[in-house]
Amino acid sequence: MEAKKTCPACGGTMEYERVVYLEGGPGLNRDTLPAAPGMELYICPTCGRGELYLPQKALERRKEARREEEEDRAWLRDFQEKVKAGEIAPQLFLCPTCGNPRRDRTCPFCGSVVDLKTMEEICPGKPS
Ligand SMILES: [Zn+2]
Ligand SMILES: [Zn+2]
Repeated sequence: MEAKKTCPACGGTMEYERVVYLEGGPGLNRDTLPAAPGMELYICPTCGRGELYLPQKALERRKEARREEEEDRAWLRDFQEKVKAGEIAPQLFLCPTCGNPRRDRTCPFCGSVVDLKTMEEICPGKPS
């Protein structure tokens, strides 16, 4: 009920009516449908047009989920690029200096540097 909704048919201001719940149609498999949230029904008092909007909270949740998905994808892309560039090994291996599992070229624990192509330690780290 925050922002004003404009009627797409006549350009009038739509009025909030009530929350409605959508049900899967007869041909749809209900199990595969995500739980349908209540939709806010707006009615145009001028021409009678009705429009459904996701409530603000559901919209926020949806945007949030989208963003997290994007971040995951961006992280994976970044990771794959680093693997390709030889900065990160696709698999974990044990650091030759400190023994901690790592996949980075440079050990985040002791600073040891390993050539990820030959898996040889170029520069030993300093174990703490
Ligand atoms: Zn209208
Ligand atoms: Zn290390």
